[in-house]
Amino acid sequence: MTKIAIIGAGLSGLSAARFLKDRAEITLFEKARSVSGRISTRRAEPYFFDHGAQYFTARTKAFNDFIQPLINQGLIERWNARYVKFDNGKIIERKNWINDEPRYVGVPGMNKIAKHLAKELNVHINTRIISLKRGDLWQLTDESGQVYSDFDWVISTTPSPQAAELLPKRFIYYEDIKDVKMHACFSLMLGFSESLPLEFEAAHVIHSDLSWIAVNSHKPGRADPFTLMVHSSEKYSEAHIDDDRETVMQHLMNETSNVIGHDVSIANYKTVHGWRYANNVKRKNCHIFLDPDLKLAACGDWCLGGRVEGAFTSAYNLVNAMKDSVL
Ligand SMILES: Cc1cc2nc3c(=O)[nH]c(=O)nc-3n(C[C@H](O)[C@H](O)[C@H](O)COP(=O)(O)OP(=O)(O)OC[C@H]3O[C@@H](n4cnc5c(N)ncnc54)[C@H](O)[C@@H]3O)c2cc1C
Repeated sequence: MTKIAIIGAGLSGLSAARFLKDRAEITLFEKARSVSGRISTRRAEPYFFDHGAQYFTARTKAFNDFIQPLINQGLIERWNARYVKFDNGKIIERKNWINDEPRYVGVPGMNKIAKHLAKELNVHINTRIISLKRGDLWQLTDESGQVYSDFDWVISTTPSPQAAELLPKRFIYYEDIKDVKMHACFSLMLGFSESLPLEFEAAHVIHSDLSWIAVNSHKPGRADPFTLMVHSSEKYSEAHIDDDRETVMQHLMNETSNVIGHDVSIANYKTVHGWRYANNVKRKNCHIFLDPDLKLAACGDWCLGGRVEGAFTSAYNLVNAMKDSVL
């Protein structure tokens, strides 16, 4: 049977593995201590925070078909939040998502989706791949020097800057991938002993160092006390990604208090996480990075514009191209 190594166990890696597992022997390599990548959930008992993807939409038939079994099992539910848009501390738009396009979340946390998809897959966690070599077949080496051999194919599903570090320059799409920039983001997590009286559960923020504020504990299936999840703007994050975290956290807390009109420094749990590669520029067309001569491929949300559905679609399109031409 064809042996395929997939680097990265976020949504794109796990989706590709699920689609290929009946045709090939799949091994996934994930540098983190668990699967999920950016559809992640941080646990800080009694609080839980989805500190990566907040929710997702499903606009293609393929993605709707993919998530339907998870909806049936209660692992994905609609999040019917009261949505607002803030500009300079004022609400300029209101919607109730119960009457709008469905916004979905993993239940009881976003990472539940990845954990479910990883079942019955062969995933090496805590395994950062640092080099790829091809003789007759592919050989992968991790940062501890452990070698994994005899793969016919390698698929990278890491963010584009990490793919550019790992993929050989003779990969036919190397130059294209090297040019795909990704942007940073900070996630501020706040846990409270009592709820704040807000007029919303989901908010976009414009003309601010913030971009998003959510009542994370309002999402379906969350039993934890009141939590807020705040994201910084792309401009602020790019300028401050290497700054001292305490300074960043204080600034984002002050901004949050100003926007929502409540002092969030009373939170009894506070932390900030910096994502160096959170999102990328929106693209309309999904490019397929498949090199049949080298038996090397790459996919990920950055192929289509940095969203959950984009991560899935990039893997779906790549796998279909592989099935049509090389498997
Ligand atoms: C703060 C934030 C907010 C977001 N909000 C939303 C939202 O509301 N809605 C939405 O649709 N999307 C959102 N997104 C984007 C969404 O999370 C991503 O589009 C999607 O999860 C990407 O999946 P992926 O599999 O392509 O990449 P990832 O999830 O990044 O998976 C890649 C995996 O590769 C692993 N890896 C990297 N290098 C190596 C290596 N050398 N060896 C082994 N493993 C490696 C990483 O650890 C990671 O697990 C958000 C992202 C962030 C960070």
